Amino acid sequence: MTTMRRRSSLGLLALLLKAPQTLAAPTQPGQASIVAVRVWPAQEYTRVTIESDQALAARHFLVDSPHRLVIDIEGLALSPGLRELIGKVKPDDPYISGVRVGQNTPTVVRIVLDLRQPVAPQIFTLTPVAAYKHRLVFDLYPKFQADPLLALVQEREKAPAPATTPAQRAEAAASAVNDALGELIQKIERPPAPPASSAPLPQPLPQPPVAAASKPAPPPPPAAAAEPKIDRLIIIALDPGHGGEDPGAVGPSGLREKDVVLSVAHKLRERLTANANIRVLMTRDADFFVPLHERVRKARRVQADLFVSIHADAFFTPQARGASVFVLSDGAATSAAARWMANRENAADMVGGVNVGAATNDANVLRALLDMSTTAQIKDSLKLGGEVLGQIGKVGRLHKAKVEQAGFAVLKAPDIPSILVETAFISNPEEEKKLRDPDYQDQLVDALATGIAKYFAKNPPMARRRSTTL
Ligand SMILES: [Zn+2]
Repeated sequence: MTTMRRRSSLGLLALLLKAPQTLAAPTQPGQASIVAVRVWPAQEYTRVTIESDQALAARHFLVDSPHRLVIDIEGLALSPGLRELIGKVKPDDPYISGVRVGQNTPTVVRIVLDLRQPVAPQIFTLTPVAAYKHRLVFDLYPKFQADPLLALVQEREKAPAPATTPAQRAEAAASAVNDALGELIQKIERPPAPPASSAPLPQPLPQPPVAAASKPAPPPPPAAAAEPKIDRLIIIALDPGHGGEDPGAVGPSGLREKDVVLSVAHKLRERLTANANIRVLMTRDADFFVPLHERVRKARRVQADLFVSIHADAFFTPQARGASVFVLSDGAATSAAARWMANRENAADMVGGVNVGAATNDANVLRALLDMSTTAQIKDSLKLGGEVLGQIGKVGRLHKAKVEQAGFAVLKAPDIPSILVETAFISNPEEEKKLRDPDYQDQLVDALATGIAKYFAKNPPMARRRSTTL
């Protein structure tokens, strides 16, 4: 009898514990289970990812007043894993103000995203890759683009209205581009630092006391006479690798490449823009994913003078250490390791997740253009790479003492000297520790800034060509 009573009370307890789940449809065989839900908010776009053990099919529609995106997912039962989505939306998300989920029919889950502004959504699936299983992705782009880069393009299109002759139209277009560029630069940057510096290029920061005590003082910067005269702004594109769904490499203690390189890029931006003549375009300034060709396109849109991609990858042995600098190759890679690294970096789009179905004609034209790498670009990139490698070699050890070449997709802007800097191997425990250290990051930033300055000292930027860019 005692046994029976205990059994019945246990049965009641089990029923009570189960109660909340009875609201959800029972998981049918063949129904997908949620592995994880993630939200990546950014000004450019917000991404929502639903990762599951089986492929999911979704339909969606938009509703106005108030703006909502409704997504129906087939073959899915409401589960605590999916409900987590509600808590994952940040209060400062630029696109999503709230999420509701419900079981619409026994086999369809409905997600309603309450929107802060009208969106142009892209909804697509990704097959398993790297550590991910199946992913259903919603990218919420603004319907009305506030992106300053697109604003620049639009201003170009609007430009030549009042002019009459072709020459006048050309002139009007050119000045509109100049205005738009100036405006863009003001928009993307905070006001320049006080005009204290008379030198047109950044100077190395004073060495920190510890370094000064342990090292001889660096040689003075080149004489003023060697400094170029620059009568226009220099635009440098800084490209922190990976981001969002793509963490990049992860160190033995969990440090993520995407976070380290963003931190280094922010510091480098600050360092470079201390010079009133320099503006920096960041291909990403937060933790979201940017496809490789989009990084190149952003740099080309502002006609950047340089493109510097910053990484801290893993290598196939934890012993590997030291920094490397890569430029594009128009043929074979200069070493097996360089080829391996390029393949690894080029896989970022697969891990980060690109909507291949949405490839527009524009994107195809851009891709074709980017395949036309030029010998001149590579020559200039090698010069830039050499200067940067020389400086980084003073901070830490180098993996290879010369600039290496391979087919990195992100270095393919045919008209912009472009380098990819592997600052260190995050897979090496010692280097991971260094990468985490703000002082070491500062030294790296000094080395990068000095290398860039030395390149410009020897290769002053020409008058800006107003060629058409995509
Ligand atoms: Zn990387």
